[in-house]
Amino acid sequence: MLEVDWKRLARTTFQHRCPACGDGELFSEGYRIHDRCPSCGTDLRGEHGAHYGGPIVLGYTVGGVTGLLVLTALGWAFGLRTWVVWTSVGALVLSIFLAYRTCKAFWVWFLYATDEIGEAGEWGEG
Ligand SMILES: [Zn+2]
Repeated sequence: MLEVDWKRLARTTFQHRCPACGDGELFSEGYRIHDRCPSCGTDLRGEHGAHYGGPIVLGYTVGGVTGLLVLTALGWAFGLRTWVVWTSVGALVLSIFLAYRTCKAFWVWFLYATDEIGEAGEWGEG
């Protein structure tokens, strides 16, 4: 059973900090995650592709829910007009990009909590 440290989960997910120390920045630039935590040196890489599938599914889910909520709210207020549909699609796409870093940070926490990443010395240097 996975023991969830909620404070650590929140700090990693919403403040984009290392799941091991809670201090080091998770992202080096854009959506790219540091190979190792700049603060404690924990290996954040994981298996090849480990950082992609989960966050993409989460991001699309956030986008889909956001698009449906906007469509429901605007559709209820103004009826299903063309601009309502396009505004919903815009909200869907925009929310994917806005939520992606947070989804990826959550996924790093998940990989760390399930021992998929963070094993010291698992990866050779260079
Ligand atoms: Zn760290």
